[in-house]
Amino acid sequence: MDSPDLFTCGGCKEYGSGKRYSCQQCDFQLHHFCALPPQSLLGHPFHIIHQLLFQTKPVYKGGMRKSKCDACSKTIKGYNFRCNACSFQMHPCCAKLSNEMNFNSLHRHTVKLLPVTPSTNNGDQPGFVCGECRRKRSGRVYRCSVPACDYHLHVVCSKNMDEWAPCK
Ligand SMILES: [Zn+2]
Ligand SMILES: [Zn+2]
Ligand SMILES: [Zn+2]
Ligand SMILES: [Zn+2]
Ligand SMILES: [Zn+2]
Repeated sequence: MDSPDLFTCGGCKEYGSGKRYSCQQCDFQLHHFCALPPQSLLGHPFHIIHQLLFQTKPVYKGGMRKSKCDACSKTIKGYNFRCNACSFQMHPCCAKLSNEMNFNSLHRHTVKLLPVTPSTNNGDQPGFVCGECRRKRSGRVYRCSVPACDYHLHVVCSKNMDEWAPCK
């Protein structure tokens, strides 16, 4: 089924639009990629160093009540990809992001993923202002590929679009 309406994916519990799998008997719907997920990801730009394994349920780190995505820092409620070596984890939607993205409705140029360095502690990069929220937030950050532009965008802020391309 292909419909522009928003739906909540029964696998990853995130929103989606466009292509989906839906049950004929109930309103259970799945993202295309959640219906047929790869069992593992290797060399993903968000976590190049280790292999990520597909999981149907979030793993709660050290007694925490919530499971947080290391890409967008939102809660993981369902399907996810997880690293057994260091407990990195992310949403299937976030796993569809790459090093370079075009969020045309937010910014006209290509944006590139900023590397995580030990001193910046996963997204706590000082000295930039997110072009969407203008706040400090955790999670990964994209920067405009045009140096003079100096546009920055949190991954989580890119997800605020109704038509979030990676989740289609
Ligand atoms: Zn999904
Ligand atoms: Zn995420
Ligand atoms: Zn890892
Ligand atoms: Zn932001
Ligand atoms: Zn730009």
